[in-house]
Amino acid sequence: MSEKGRIIYVCDGCGTPGVTREAWAAWDVETQAWVLTEMFDYAFCHSCHRRTQLVERAVEGE
Ligand SMILES: [Zn+2]
Repeated sequence: MSEKGRIIYVCDGCGTPGVTREAWAAWDVETQAWVLTEMFDYAFCHSCHRRTQLVERAVEGE
């Protein structure tokens, strides 16, 4: 097991965690669910309502 604590991704501009990444999902017949098959660098902040850079931070209090 890793000694590293959990991380969170936040917006480079406003620092909030309301960020998403562009990705492809494909239907998996076995599990009957959409599964991520590809993730892209494009990140969007839903607070700033524009493209952003993701910043990796340690989860506070851990
Ligand atoms: Zn933002």
